[in-house]
Amino acid sequence: MTDKSNDKHQQRQQKVKEQVDARVAAAQDVKGIFQVITGNGKGKSTSGFGVVARCVGHGKKAAVCQFIKGTWECGERNLLQGAGVEFAVMNTGFTWDTQNKEADTAAAQATWQESKRMLADSSIDLVLLDELTYMVTYGYIDLNEVVSALNNRPPMQSVIITGRAAHRTLTDLADTVSEVRNVKHAFDSGIKALEGFDY
Ligand code: ATP
Ligand code: MG
Repeated sequence: MTDKSNDKHQQRQQKVKEQVDARVAAAQDVKGIFQVITGNGKGKSTSGFGVVARCVGHGKKAAVCQFIKGTWECGERNLLQGAGVEFAVMNTGFTWDTQNKEADTAAAQATWQESKRMLADSSIDLVLLDELTYMVTYGYIDLNEVVSALNNRPPMQSVIITGRAAHRTLTDLADTVSEVRNVKHAFDSGIKALEGFDY
């Protein structure tokens, strides 16, 4: 790099730094953050669990509700339960197969009661509601109840909801919304879900 282009580079970087510093200084609110991670691409739950790990790594308390469609083992659960993270898991491995709406609703509701307890507990810094979007879509959990629990949670508590096709009401309410786009996925070329990578 010539001296001249280096000068230009430094000037540009200085400008960027000033703009970023100004925006950092302008962000004054301190409150829990509500994030929705949605979209068809891979990386929603793993992103949510990444924040749980981050939270625990700072000595804070996190809790997880999994509204998952199976009973398969979950690598994150194996690790994070050992680090003191409470998990509430919907056990519907069989009923999902049989499409038993009544049993599915009961299972979703049972896990939702745990979620509500977590969302009212000010000792919990972060609540991850993994795959909750589907429960709202199928009508197993009432959207208004979710909104009310989110709005009434302790002010410093953060919440992450993951799952495809998040309801517009949830994305409107969220402080941060990330949509993971599917560019390609190994499954499409016939590669099986891999332990330690996909679950
Ligand atoms: P991950 O848990 O890996 O972050 P996710 O939460 O974004 O994935 P889900 O819709 O919850 O995605 O699906 C969970 C499982 O389905 C994972 O094993 C994941 O690899 C797989 N999966 C995710 N996206 C796709 C896709 N676009 N095509 C096929 N399989 C997918
Ligand atoms: Mg997921």
